[in-house]
Amino acid sequence: MYGVFFEEKYQRFERETPFDFSKRSSIGCGGLAETAFYPRTVAELVDLIKNLRQDGVPFYTLGNLTNVLPSDGAIQSVIVCTKKMRYEENGTLFFPSGISSTKLLWACQRLQKSGAEFLEGIPCTLGGALYMNAGVSGKYVAEILESVTVYREGEIIVLPVKDCDYTYKHSAFMDGKSVILGASLRLINSDEANIAAARKRYKGRRAHLPQGRSMGCVFKNPDGQIAGKLIDGAGLKGLRVGGATVSETHANFIVNDNRATANDVRTLIGIIKQAVFAQYKIRLEEEIRYIT
Ligand SMILES: Cc1cc2nc3c(=O)[nH]c(=O)nc-3n(C[C@H](O)[C@H](O)[C@H](O)COP(=O)(O)OP(=O)(O)OC[C@H]3O[C@@H](n4cnc5c(N)ncnc54)[C@H](O)[C@@H]3O)c2cc1C
Repeated sequence: MYGVFFEEKYQRFERETPFDFSKRSSIGCGGLAETAFYPRTVAELVDLIKNLRQDGVPFYTLGNLTNVLPSDGAIQSVIVCTKKMRYEENGTLFFPSGISSTKLLWACQRLQKSGAEFLEGIPCTLGGALYMNAGVSGKYVAEILESVTVYREGEIIVLPVKDCDYTYKHSAFMDGKSVILGASLRLINSDEANIAAARKRYKGRRAHLPQGRSMGCVFKNPDGQIAGKLIDGAGLKGLRVGGATVSETHANFIVNDNRATANDVRTLIGIIKQAVFAQYKIRLEEEIRYIT
């Protein structure tokens, strides 16, 4: 649709054409978008989205695609994928949105700054974690933030954390108006050995998680309840639709055996919601984000 136009006007940006969601998303299903752009710096990300907005090109900003369910078939939007953004250590605690949790944690360890270790093993970019308020064991990314820098309505804005509307698995960025450029973290002084030990502890706690292609937890925990326990209690572990199965090891994970379509996964999500409601009168809400 945009082929020649992109070749002429957007040639300075790294591009993947087409972008195959079944290869790039952690769940391993979904169709094709015409193009994905990979900005390398914050300045390039701003330049790219400014132009896409001016040209009226619809786009999704994505990180490592580990909490998204892309639809089967053609996806009409362009993809802005931050995961190749470069990070150069400069002694500050400002990190670009595309940095992976692993690179972020190594940087914090070298800087002898502690507090982010719970991100160990969450397969995210910082931008995805900031959008989702990612976390584990009762710790969430909102708790280690000073401010988030976004591009919103034509301006670069630095939002103090109190203005980011963070609650459980929720952020202000879910209104879709902001592209997250980066964030300044609020961490405490420590030493490399302590940080390494904390990272190891968090890694150990993840050993029980299901292997294979998934999106992590599909549903948010309802107030005072654990979604996985409700799904298990409804007898759904092992339930399969096409190539998608409710994991036997963690009922809040849906695992793709490499043959699942997005439609299989969506159908299974619908069945889980119905069965949990029938048994407990509780409406499960998806944590994952749909890409259509
Ligand atoms: C095996 C596995 C284990 C997991 N374990 C955990 C866990 O322990 N805790 C947890 O919280 N999550 C977990 N997850 C889910 C997932 O990793 C997190 O939600 C993560 O924060 C998503 O980051 P991402 O970079 O992959 O974002 P993506 O999946 O690429 O995007 C998620 C959402 O963020 C938006 N977004 C991404 N970047 C930007 C940006 N720069 N600007 C604006 N919007 C943006 C996207 O539009 C999308 O709506 C797990 C997933 C898997 C596959």
